[in-house]
Amino acid sequence: MIPPIANRFVAGESPATVLEHVRRLDDRNVRAIVNLLGEHYDDRADVRADAATYRTLIEDIARANLEACLSVKPTQLGLDLGEDVFREELEGLVEAAVEHGVFVWVDMEDHTTTDATLDAFESLADEYGDDENPRLGVCVQANLKRTREDVERLADVPGKVRFVKGAYDEPTDVAYQDSTRVNEEYRRLLEYAFEHFDGGIAVGSHDPAMIDYAISLHEEYGTEFELQMLMGVREDAQEALAREYPVYQYVPFGDRWSSYFYRRVTERKENLWFALRAIVGR
Ligand code: FAD
Repeated sequence: MIPPIANRFVAGESPATVLEHVRRLDDRNVRAIVNLLGEHYDDRADVRADAATYRTLIEDIARANLEACLSVKPTQLGLDLGEDVFREELEGLVEAAVEHGVFVWVDMEDHTTTDATLDAFESLADEYGDDENPRLGVCVQANLKRTREDVERLADVPGKVRFVKGAYDEPTDVAYQDSTRVNEEYRRLLEYAFEHFDGGIAVGSHDPAMIDYAISLHEEYGTEFELQMLMGVREDAQEALAREYPVYQYVPFGDRWSSYFYRRVTERKENLWFALRAIVGR
């Protein structure tokens, strides 16, 4: 069972609890991006088990006609076992998702995984989607020095791109460390995307300054976009923004919740306070 301290950020352990959460979001006009928690598998059986759960979820989402998509981690789909394993598993999942009309996002992990993740995204987005009907999305991180070049490469790929600041501790030779610099880079990337992409931009941030900036770019260039935030973070803002723009909530679930929860808490110490408040009842 998920302990009360992590409940705010994780929607239970089973597909049934996550689907219940997705239904509640639906009532608030917020759409869901469902993620089964799991990463860095070195046993193919774990990869297969998560892929099977995702397939069942795809069928459940389609059957219930819910506005929900999936987000998967490359090392959850076997990247640590080999790039070929990851591609095979991702392709199997994309095939099932396309068959049921469910969109798939690929999360971005640390910088050692970037090339393999972008290569797989690029070829599968091309094979399964087109400009009018993208089927696959990928995340890029503003803290990585390489990302501007990656984004230029992704501009013509028929998929969506989620822009985030970056959640992983990275070495100084590959990543900006200073948050002011990361914020500057984030703005630059958004500006490039709104100017050059036809659509398919996702702003994965809780930062009011970045969200306002994205809205101003949308007004300037007319490019469509969506906002994405995590479960348990600025949920009132999610609901308010959903009255005007497409808003998605990233909803993790599953029994491997501890590393995700600790990432949220180390990222921002107030998150621990929010989590504690959920226990002590304000
Ligand atoms: P921060 O720079 O952390 O905070 C800026 C401002 O936002 C704060 O000053 C505050 O005003 C507001 N804010 C932030 N957190 C809170 C809070 N808890 N409560 C109230 N206000 C708050 N990272 C990856 O590396 N790979 C991924 O695939 C990935 N996917 C993601 C998907 C989604 C949908 C989201 C939202 C994030 C994802 N991330 C991912 C995490 C991301 O990289 C950041 O670590 C995380 O979003 C924190 O950065 P931020 O832009 O939200 O703002």
